[in-house]
Formats: sequence, structure tokens, C-alpha cells
Amino acid sequence: MTATSPEIADADDALIQFMYQAPIGLAQTKLDGEIEMINPMAASLLMPLSRDGSLDNLFLTLEGVAPGLRELTAAFAAPAGMVCEAVRIQIDPGLHGNAELKVFCLSLLKLDDARLIVMLSDVTLAERRDQQALTQKLSQAARIDSLTRMPNRAVALEHVHQAMERARAGGDCHFAVLFMNCDRFKQINDTHGHAAGNEVLGLLADRLRGALRRRDAISHTAGEQLAARVGGDEFVVVLDDLARPDDVHPVAQRLLDVLSKPYGVERQQLHCGVSIGIVMQAQASGDADSVLQHASIATAEAKRVGGARYVIFEPAMAQRAARRGAVESDLRTALSGGELFVVYQPVVGLKGACGIDRSAGLEALVRWRHPTRGVVPPLEFIGVAEECGLIGPIGDFVLGTAVRQLAQWQKELGSRAPRTMAVNLSRAQLAQPGFAARVGDVLRSCGIAPERLQLEVTESLAAQDETVQSRLHELKALGVTLALDDFGTGYSSLASLHQLPIDTVKIDRSFISQADTSDHHRVLIEATIRVARSLGMSTVAEGIETEAQAAVIRELGGDKGQGYLFSRPLPVADATRWFLAAEAAQSPARAAASAG
Ligand code: C2E
Ligand code: MG
Ligand code: MG
Repeated sequence: MTATSPEIADADDALIQFMYQAPIGLAQTKLDGEIEMINPMAASLLMPLSRDGSLDNLFLTLEGVAPGLRELTAAFAAPAGMVCEAVRIQIDPGLHGNAELKVFCLSLLKLDDARLIVMLSDVTLAERRDQQALTQKLSQAARIDSLTRMPNRAVALEHVHQAMERARAGGDCHFAVLFMNCDRFKQINDTHGHAAGNEVLGLLADRLRGALRRRDAISHTAGEQLAARVGGDEFVVVLDDLARPDDVHPVAQRLLDVLSKPYGVERQQLHCGVSIGIVMQAQASGDADSVLQHASIATAEAKRVGGARYVIFEPAMAQRAARRGAVESDLRTALSGGELFVVYQPVVGLKGACGIDRSAGLEALVRWRHPTRGVVPPLEFIGVAEECGLIGPIGDFVLGTAVRQLAQWQKELGSRAPRTMAVNLSRAQLAQPGFAARVGDVLRSCGIAPERLQLEVTESLAAQDETVQSRLHELKALGVTLALDDFGTGYSSLASLHQLPIDTVKIDRSFISQADTSDHHRVLIEATIRVARSLGMSTVAEGIETEAQAAVIRELGGDKGQGYLFSRPLPVADATRWFLAAEAAQSPARAAASAG
């Protein structure tokens, strides 16, 4: 060792002192990694990585966890400077007996053309904290809906669960779970695009939050109120602080009012009401998941009866939903399995001099021959078919079958064939853009004149919707006639009849059944017949069951009638016989009329 001046010796001592006490690992090496000086911290960090218990060469020691350090240094051409800085080195558990994952932070400084300084620190704890923060952030993201910044389904389920636990433990407050679904969201998406749809959802979420914040107005206690987005256009509110169960009513009504106001999107006012299904604490059974499911069943019930309202869940609803589910799965095979068929109910003319005119027309009514339940009436499956999207193919089947059958009867029966064939349409069929064209195709392919086909829509359907209205005009342009079914049960009034592009008004059975017993009903029937006639529309009285009812309708000037008095809906063979019997039935009447 060369003699050193006292100053230099002091400086070296100072450096060695510093290195020993530094709270990070420090080592000085030659350029090839040979360790010249190392402090205790660096030694304790590196020792577990040493294969033979010695710490002679830094690069050799780190080879297993940070290969390439030697090459990196060799490639570093500058006389001095940072070779690498704050490199994270991960030491997996198991390596050299290391029990757990460790993370080092390493910096390598070239001091001059002969020496390197390595700085090493154990950042395992900091790394773990970073990881935890990241995981927390990610799990928070998994609990927040990114579009509305509302809690998501997982959070809603937790809240429902907690509310149920609290209720089990006993407490003064009551809880209720409100499940909301937009009434016209699909329409907004389809008509205005998904961006507009998203904007509506964002605005709706803001309003929902705002409405719940005003808890003084909607609830008197100050507990938890959670609003979450649990699906595309589905939201859940958990009210956990109701003083009395009945307090849910003003809250639900308030939410309906607030959320049904139009949403300003892209300079337009979009309407998107909501339907709400509510599970009260007393009806909350099973787990949180089933409570949400029951609330959503009640929402579906609210929609079924017209939407824009709230419905409180009852257990019978779940049973009905289960039944509908079973019908849906069976219905999917019914069409392909040939289980659906059509029956025909005669519509007779009431005005002729010789009793009834049997060849006036028919109404096609669908039936389902279920393999175990027998023949199922349409009211039990048309609604389900509409909900599950099967009404399109079923409607096409009925239309095609009925029009082909009319063509067949024209061929077989000649002048005794029915003059018109009426087919019922549902909302889903009318919503299909190409529907009118398809009707045209069916008529052409069977050689049936359009005016022979009458399409029936229910009153509520025809009155409500712009899409439906424009589809009705397209159908009219084809030349088919349109009938308003079940008149008197829905929305439109006599005063609005003239706004609808219809040819025939079918007066609902609920009026006809009391035609001869209630003055009130008789007056309504008379008014309907008069208004219809003044608008150039004809009338059909539905559900005539007795001679007395038929007599009243005739007296009031009704054009046509349909009902069990004349005939029940008939299978094809029976309907054919019914028409063939027309001559036999009418000939004596005609003879009597001409004799009279
Ligand atoms: P709707 O169009 O008003 O059909 C008349 C319903 O009244 C038929 O019931 C018929 O059997 C029944 N009816 C007729 N005369 C009498 C009577 O004198 N007394 C009684 N008590 N009932 C009578 P159905 O066949 O059960 O059909 C019920 C409803 O289902 C139909 O009412 C119609 O809205 C719907 N529907 C039937 N077939 C189809 C279809 O192919 N497509 C669509 N979308 N709906 C259909
Ligand atoms: Mg009908
Ligand atoms: Mg009807």
C-alpha cells in the first residue's frame, strides 16, 4: 500500500464511515464487478444471492436476478456517469432459499475509468404498498360504473345484504329495494344512437343522485340511501332508513316524477320514463341476489301494465314469472315442432234482409297444441312471445297460414268463400321496418287482393306510438284494411278515432255482453257506431253470445258481428263446413224474404 497523506487518509476514512452508516447498500467495484468495498447493508442484501457464501463480484452475484449488468457497463463508453438508475430487481421466493418475494432498487454509477459505485436498497415494502394501492384502485374500479360514476351491482348487492342483516338483527328502520328500468331506452338507442343513449343514462344518474340527496323531502330520517347502476338501463336504489314501510310510496312517486321529465340531449328533448319494482323488507327473502331478482320481476310487471309506474313485489309475481319462463322455453320449440295452428272465427254481416251474411269474413286466431298441457289459448302465450322476441316468427306464421287458407277457400268455395280474412298484429310486428313489404309479398305469392286482408291492431297500440302510426300508413298504402280491435278498453276515445287510419272499429266484448242489460253500455255502443259511421268506418260487435245482444246491435245499426252465437273459432275443416252450410241456412231465409 502506498503512503497516503493524512488528509487523504481522513477522506478515505470519512468515505468508509459514510458507507458503513448509510441507510442504503453501497459498494465500490472495479469495472469488471470485482468488489473492493461494501457496506454492511449491501452485504446483507446481496449475501442471500451469493451461490458460495462469498461476495467477490457484483455481476456474478446478481447474474441470476439481473443478467446483463456486465454488458451494460462494458457498453457504457463515457468516462463517468450513471450506467443505470433505479432499476427494479425482483427476487422471486425460493431463489437461494429466499422465503418471500423481494424487490431491490439498484443504481450503478461509473466513477472513473476504473471504478463503479453500486447503490442498492430493499424496496419490497414500498413495492408492496404500491401494489396494494393499485389493487385497491382496481377493485374500486370494479365497484364503480364508469359511465355514471355510480356504484355497480356488486355494491348494490352488498347494501341489500347489509340491510337484510340489520333487519334480522332488529331495528327501528325499514328498508326497501327499488329496481328501475327505463321504459324507452332501446328506442332512444335505436333512433338517436348509442352516444345519445349514454348521455341520457348519465343525466338520469345525476337526477337520481340529486333526488336522493334531497332526503328531507323524501325521507325523514338520515340513514343510508344507495343508488347504483346494475345493468344497461337498470338502476337500484336501496332505502335503508324508512321510518314506516309506507314511506316508500312518496319516494317512489318522486323518483318517477323526477326521472320522467325529458332529457336534453343534442338539442333535443328525449323522453325516457322509468318503471320501478319494489321489494319491501317484509317480502325480502332468500339472499340479496334474489331480492334484486324479485324487484326486477316487479319492474317487469310495472312495464307490462303500461310502464311509468311503480309496482310493489308480491310472491305471486315470482310464480307467474317462473310460469312465463317455462312457457318461453316450450314456445321456442312450438313453432319448429308444428305445435302452433290457426283457427278461424266467422264474422257475420248483420244487415242483410236474410238474417246473417255468413260469407262476410273470418278472424284468424292462433292456438298452441302443447304436448302436455293440451290446447293453450293465445292470451297465455302471446304476451310471452312479445317479451321474448318470438312474436315476429309466430305472427308471420299466422299471417302466412291465414292468407294461404283464404286462397284455398276461394278456390274451393267460390262465391261462398269468406270475403275478408282478419289477422291480429302485435306491437313487435308493427315495429319491424320491413313489415309492410312482407305483408305485400305474402299477398302476392298467394294471389290475394289486398282489400281482402284486414289487419287488427289493439286500440292502445294504434293510439300510442309514432312508429306504429307510420307503419299503419304503409300498410294502408298496400291496400289492406285496418281494424281497431277491442275498442273501448284502451286509451283512445271516440273523439280521437278520426286520427287513426282505420276502416273498421271492433267494439269490445265487455260492452257487447251488457248491450241488452245496461242502458249505459247500450248508449256507448250506439255512440261508437254513430261516430264510426260518420267517419266512414264500419263496425264489428265482438263476442255476441245471445240473440238478445244480436238484436240490440242490429237495432243500433251495427254492421257486423262475431261471437259464440254465430260460431266459435273453428279448425279449417269445420270452418269449411260452416261456409258450405251457408247456402242451406240462407236459402230459406232468402225465400222467406222474397215471399214477404
Ligand atoms: P281478439 O282479437 O279480440 O279475438 C277475439 C277473442 O274473443 C278470441 O279469443 C275469441 O275466441 C274470443 N271470442 C269470440 N267470440 C266470443 C264470445 O262470444 N264469447 C267469448 N267469451 N269469447 C269470444 P282468443 O282466440 O282466445 O284470442 C284472444 C286474443 O289473443 C285475441 O283477441 C287477440 O288479441 C290475441 N290473438 C289471437 N290470435 C292472435 C295472433 O295470431 N296474433 C296476435 N298478435 N294476437 C292474437
Ligand atoms: Mg282480434
Ligand atoms: Mg278483440
